Amino acid sequence: MKIKAIEFGKLRVPLKTPFKTAMRTIDFIEDVVIILETNSGHRGYGSAPATAVITGETHGSIIEAIRTMIMPRIMGEDVRNLNRVVGLIQQSIFMNFSAKAAVEIAVYDLFAQSFNAPLYRVLGGGEPVISTDLTISVDYIDKMVADALDAVERGFDAVKIKVGKDLALDIERVKAVYAAVGDKALLRLDANQGWTPKQTVAALRELEATGVKLEFIEQPVRGYDVDGMKYVTERVATPVMADESTFGPKEVIDIIKMRGADMINIKLMKTGGLSNAIKIADIAAIYDVECMIGCMAETSIGVAAAAHLAVAKAGSITRIDLDSPSLGAVNHVVGGVRFDNSEISISEAPGLGIESINELAMLSFD
Ligand code: MG
Repeated sequence: MKIKAIEFGKLRVPLKTPFKTAMRTIDFIEDVVIILETNSGHRGYGSAPATAVITGETHGSIIEAIRTMIMPRIMGEDVRNLNRVVGLIQQSIFMNFSAKAAVEIAVYDLFAQSFNAPLYRVLGGGEPVISTDLTISVDYIDKMVADALDAVERGFDAVKIKVGKDLALDIERVKAVYAAVGDKALLRLDANQGWTPKQTVAALRELEATGVKLEFIEQPVRGYDVDGMKYVTERVATPVMADESTFGPKEVIDIIKMRGADMINIKLMKTGGLSNAIKIADIAAIYDVECMIGCMAETSIGVAAAAHLAVAKAGSITRIDLDSPSLGAVNHVVGGVRFDNSEISISEAPGLGIESINELAMLSFD
């Protein structure tokens, strides 16, 4: 099963409603999709969104990194030598984590196909049904409350609300949503780097004092400000989760050892793919730290890979935030992982189980 060619495409999915965080607003998802072809006729799928404000990557940079730096290293390699191929991908270029992730996802898809088994089984097995939360965009209070009630109505037992715009208003947003759904669903808070450390402590102390119970607060302060994360973690009872503060395994070790956060949000587009995500899940298990698996605003190809990982590493990945396919108005990806509101279920099809992708616009390079 040797890699012999790569094809590129773009896949666009309109969203049901615009997705708004403290950092940006989007109304569609668009991924670079790659298809790795092998001499055995197997095809491996991978994808990456452009999340420039977080990873610094654009579609152009992702395609260029894959074409000119990653592919020359792995062309002709046998994907059954997984560790070697993954090492070549990781060493091919500095950073560029989403580009590496797209290629790793396709390689792991093929690796599992070589055993004729679904990826989660090759990663260690598990119960192939998981339950995700739903993200509520930052918006007017009435709109956020309505969206949260709708999520509970659709069967979600955890909602993640986006805040981080205006502190006083954010506190009111959280109180209103908690009053509406707090007895029916767990409430997670993601401030997307929008608050200062002192603002975060003040906000959480007020919320805690007024009886609002949050499952955790995710990345309230700037990603680079790990001292600020530690400051918050030391001063509030609500668990603090690191998202943009941790990308790879080394940063996870550092933040755990300095007690800078209580939990870690793993995303394949931050780790550079599955190999480092597996390491993070294992590191977290060693330290009894729980992880959430998250995703960018991305299509269900990369999210499928994350779902397989979550099933296999359920011991430390105890929370699932893979709602990007649920935010899309359509799912163009056929086969494999089924996204049905809160329930994500994985079939026994080999690899990621992707049969075909509708509306995939193929790219050509001369
Ligand atoms: Mg986040």
